Order: sequence, then C-alpha cells, then structure tokens
Amino acid sequence: MREKSYFTCDNCHNKISFWETFKTNKNSKTICNFCNTELHPIKTISFNWSFFIGFISTVIPAEIVLKYYNSVPIAFFVALCGGILSVLGIAFYTYKSTELKS
Ligand SMILES: [Zn+2]
Repeated sequence: MREKSYFTCDNCHNKISFWETFKTNKNSKTICNFCNTELHPIKTISFNWSFFIGFISTVIPAEIVLKYYNSVPIAFFVALCGGILSVLGIAFYTYKSTELKS
C-alpha cells in the first residue's frame, strides 16, 4: 500500500518540481523529468480563486497604507509584497493539494 502523496508522478512515483506548480492549472499538463510521462493535474485550485486571493492580498493592504500613511510608493511596495506572498501561497497550496494522473 503506497502513501497518498501529492505532486508525484503517477508512473515512477518521483516528486515533481515545486516550480511546476506555477505552470499548473486545470487544463495544463506537466511532463515528468524522470520518465517523461505526461501528467494532468486533477482537483487543482481554480484560476478565478487564485486571481481573487491575489486581488485581495494586493488591493486591501495598499488601500490601508494609502489611508493611514498617504504614501503611494509605500502602498505600491506593500501591494508588491502582498502579490508575491499570495503567488507563493497559492503555489504552495497547489503543491500540497494537487494530484497528478497520467
Ligand atoms: Zn515519472
């Protein structure tokens, strides 16, 4: 009985690179680096949901900064940080929750 693992090749059971998550969405495919099997993600986070999280984590902090500090450069910097964090967060979530099937 094999342990249920995510982001692992269905054919050779090797781990797929974390960076592949950035290219992964419902209609995409990933090629295994070890056995060249074409893998399709199932049950992955939807693009709209990622977009929504990205929007929330950039616009809301920027709005708060603008309100309290009244500084556009700081607001821009905060939005950038929020954007980067949300992209990494979504990628990490995708990595932990996506199953790949050949
Ligand atoms: Zn493989």
